[in-house]
Amino acid sequence: MLTEELQQHTARTIMNTYARLPIGLVRGQGCTVYDAEDRDYLDFVAGIAVNALGHGHPGLVTAIARQAQRLLHTSNLFYSEPQVRLANRLVSHSFADKVFFCNSGAEANEAAIKLARRHAFQHHGPDRYEIITMHHSFHGRTLATLTATGQTRVQHGFAPLLPGFTYAGFNDVASIERQMTPHTAAVMIEPIQGEGGVVVADRSFWATLQQLCRDRGVLLIVDEIQTGMGRTGTLFAYEQIQIRPDIMTLAKGLGGGLPIGACLATDDVARAFDPGSHASTFGGNPLACAGALAVFQALVDDHLLEHGRAMGEYLHKGLQELKSRCALIADVRGLGLLQGMELTMAGHPIVQDCLARRVLINCTRENVLRFVPPLIVTTREIDRLLNVLSDTLTKRLSRVGSRHAHRAHDTRSSIRTEPAPGPALGFDQGVDQGATLSVGDTGDIQL
Ligand code: PLP
Repeated sequence: MLTEELQQHTARTIMNTYARLPIGLVRGQGCTVYDAEDRDYLDFVAGIAVNALGHGHPGLVTAIARQAQRLLHTSNLFYSEPQVRLANRLVSHSFADKVFFCNSGAEANEAAIKLARRHAFQHHGPDRYEIITMHHSFHGRTLATLTATGQTRVQHGFAPLLPGFTYAGFNDVASIERQMTPHTAAVMIEPIQGEGGVVVADRSFWATLQQLCRDRGVLLIVDEIQTGMGRTGTLFAYEQIQIRPDIMTLAKGLGGGLPIGACLATDDVARAFDPGSHASTFGGNPLACAGALAVFQALVDDHLLEHGRAMGEYLHKGLQELKSRCALIADVRGLGLLQGMELTMAGHPIVQDCLARRVLINCTRENVLRFVPPLIVTTREIDRLLNVLSDTLTKRLSRVGSRHAHRAHDTRSSIRTEPAPGPALGFDQGVDQGATLSVGDTGDIQL
C-alpha cells in the first residue's frame, strides 16, 4: 500500500488516538527508514527511543530468527531459558536482585505501583498506599499510570481516577516533602522528564530526595522506561545521579523494537509479590527476551554503550553550537542520546520542515524538539541533522523578522532550565517547576 492508501485505511479502521505524520514506513536499515514510496529518511525518532540498535541490526535479527524457530511462546506456568538469562543480565548490571517481565512501559509501571503498595501494606498496614509523582511527568496510559502521570491533559475525561496519588514539583525536594504523609508508600520519578520536555534535575536534588525517602521509609521508584538501556550514556541513568532506587522500570530500548517491559527491585521489596499477586500472559516471552539479550550483547559486550555516550556528547555540543547562533533556540539540554532543544516558537512546524528534508525528529511539550536516534548513530548522521536544523531554523528566523529576533535573543527557556555549563554528561541543570510553560510566543510567526 502507498502512503495515501495507508492513511485512508487507517482513518477507516483504526481508532483515532494518534496525530500521525503523513508518511507510511515500510523498512529500515541502520539509522535510515524508507517509506511506502521508497523515499529514505534519517531517523532521529527511533520509535521514540526504542530502536537502540537501529534498524535491521544483524545480531538482533539473527537472535529473533533463531528463537522464532526454536520456541516462540510458552506460558509462565513453565521455566524459560531466555527469560532467566535476561533476568541474570539485568540484575548483574543493576542495583536490583529480582525482575518481573511484562510487555510495555505502562505495564512495568503498573507492576511497580502494585509492588510498592503491597510492600507498604505488608510492612506498615493498609493505610500506607500513596504514591507521589511529579508535575509534567509521564508514566503511561493505563488508568493507574495516567493517574500517576502529572499532566491533566492526559487524564482529561477519564475520571474517576485511581485514588492514592499526589503530585510534587520535579527538582523540588521541599515540594515532595510537603506531599509526604503517614500514607506515603513511594515516590515515583523519571531521571529525565522525556515527554515533559527533556527536563534534567540537578544532582543535589537526587541526593536529598534519596535521603528523604530513606528517612521516611518511603520507596524510591525510578522510571527508566525512556532513559534506560544506554540512552543517557550509561546503562541506566540512575548510575549518573548516584542514587540507589528500590524499584526501577524499563521498556522502550530494552527489546530494541520488540515489545518488552520489566520491573526490577531489591530482594526486600520484591518479596512483597508471591504467586498469584501479579502476572502477564506474554511477560518474559522467549522471543522478546531473546531480542533483549541481543540488545545487551551489543550494548555491553560489543561496547555500543561507549559509542552512544560519545555520540551523545557530539550531538549535545553540536546543538549548543547551533543555539549560540540561532535566536529561535531558548535552551539545549539532555544526557547522552536523549537531547532536547527548546524553541521560542512552536516545534511542530520545525518537525514538518525537517520531514520535508527527510529527517525525522519529534516534538514534546509543544516547543521542545527531541532527538533520540539509535545508539549506533554516526557523527556523519549527526552532522546531517545539525545542517538540516540550521537551515530550517535560519529560514524560519528570516521569515519571523528582526523584531522577533531581538525579542527571541532575550527569551530564556520558558521552563526556566539553566543551560548546562559542562559537557553533556552530568546532572547539573536546574529547573524551576513553579514556572509555567508558554508557547504563545508564535504570535508574529507565520506557521
Ligand atoms: N514512562 C516513561 C518515562 C515513558 O517515556 C513512557 C512512554 O513514552 C512510558 C512510561 C509508557 O510506556 P509505554 O508507551 O510502553 O506504555
